[in-house]
Amino acid sequence: MGRPKVVVLGAGYGGLMTITRLQKQVSKAEAELVLINKNDYHYETTWLHEASAGTLHHDRVRYPVKNVLNESKVKFIQAEVLRVKKDENKVELKNGEEVSYDYLVMALGSNVETFGVEGLQEYAFSITDVSAARKICEHIEWQFAAYQSEKTKDESRLTIVVGGAGFTGIEFLGELVNRIPKLCREHHIPREKVRIVSVESNPVVLPQFDRELVDYALSYLESKGVEFHIGTAVKKATADGVLVGKKGEEPQKIKAGTVIWSAGVRGNAVIDKSGFENTRGRVKVNPDLTVPGYENIFMIGDCALIINEAANRPYPPTAQIAMQHGEVCARNLAKLIKGKHDLETFVFNDRGTVCSLGENNAIGVVFGKKLKGTSASVMKKVVDDRALYLIGGPGLVLKKGKFNFI
Ligand SMILES: Cc1cc2nc3c(=O)[nH]c(=O)nc-3n(C[C@H](O)[C@H](O)[C@H](O)COP(=O)(O)OP(=O)(O)OC[C@H]3O[C@@H](n4cnc5c(N)ncnc54)[C@H](O)[C@@H]3O)c2cc1C
Repeated sequence: MGRPKVVVLGAGYGGLMTITRLQKQVSKAEAELVLINKNDYHYETTWLHEASAGTLHHDRVRYPVKNVLNESKVKFIQAEVLRVKKDENKVELKNGEEVSYDYLVMALGSNVETFGVEGLQEYAFSITDVSAARKICEHIEWQFAAYQSEKTKDESRLTIVVGGAGFTGIEFLGELVNRIPKLCREHHIPREKVRIVSVESNPVVLPQFDRELVDYALSYLESKGVEFHIGTAVKKATADGVLVGKKGEEPQKIKAGTVIWSAGVRGNAVIDKSGFENTRGRVKVNPDLTVPGYENIFMIGDCALIINEAANRPYPPTAQIAMQHGEVCARNLAKLIKGKHDLETFVFNDRGTVCSLGENNAIGVVFGKKLKGTSASVMKKVVDDRALYLIGGPGLVLKKGKFNFI
């Protein structure tokens, strides 16, 4: 191979970490580097619940991809990837063009998993990207304005159902309980008219945290008016709400003007369309993050499936893992480009997890220490700023960071 061409798909946590590290590790003479992403900006997926609730402006969660690229080394292509022709070493784009590669990094993130529940695709929103976050925020505001302007006063407009009380669902509820009182004041609507309902089919909420922290989160959210329906599944979504029920019980209707589905993700649909063997859209990768049978393709972030041997189940898809994948992937690519084949094995370094409950509250476990309240909330902002720092250095933290330097 002459000067190899490395193509990275996706400018999320995994993709940007890979390309920003790789641009420092290889010279222009050693490799041609290309990054392809749907948008010309990166968004902090882990902040989207804030933009969705309207507690953070959507422009705060994104920045231009070019801000962190060394454009003398990396060519950026804004395009949507349709599929990978993995036996021809080509990527097919929606605009009809094809891009060839010697090495490929697939870091396209995830899509919503509806588990086949009828009506969710049509009638529920999901917190997936900046446009989706804007739609959710504007839809809730529109419902409040519509309620206020109508004579009939349909109170179901003011009911928000959140399906799934996992990480995303709980973080979104934390933002909503801060946003709703302000919306009520703006629209002159009594707070007690608004229902915020959380529906979770599992008997346990946030299984990654211990009972004490989960109880803290639930009682805080309940104190702010969230109704929890735990062990209750969303059976169907309709134009005017959802049908929910416990196992063996007759489903009940909750009329709601807004339904948010946050109960699951699967690997990006491009994985399936490209014919990769997968489990719910995630590809079980080799220890060095390459795809079995396709050693020139790295699969990272939410698209990769790696088993946590200690727990005997896959690691959950998180930004923390995606970024660590990116670091290892960049080092392995640099080795291959320099003609070395002793690739590094990925080992997850679990630094902990923090789940926010709005602006000033959170629960978390960081380096094995349990945190709740303000200390956890400060730690969440540190985690958010660290992600910016790792990809864009101090300049990006100053511009976009959570500690309000601007
Ligand atoms: C609301 C919310 C809160 C979260 N909170 C946390 C948290 O606190 N901590 C944590 O660790 N994890 C959290 N997560 C999970 C975390 O965001 C993901 O695991 C992480 O973003 C995965 O990184 P990635 O690089 O695989 O994909 P992403 O960061 O999602 O990036 C994928 C990129 O690919 C682009 N793309 C997708 N399809 C195409 C296509 N066909 N063509 C071109 N480009 C495409 C997208 O636009 C995007 O830029 C949260 C997720 C959500 C939704």
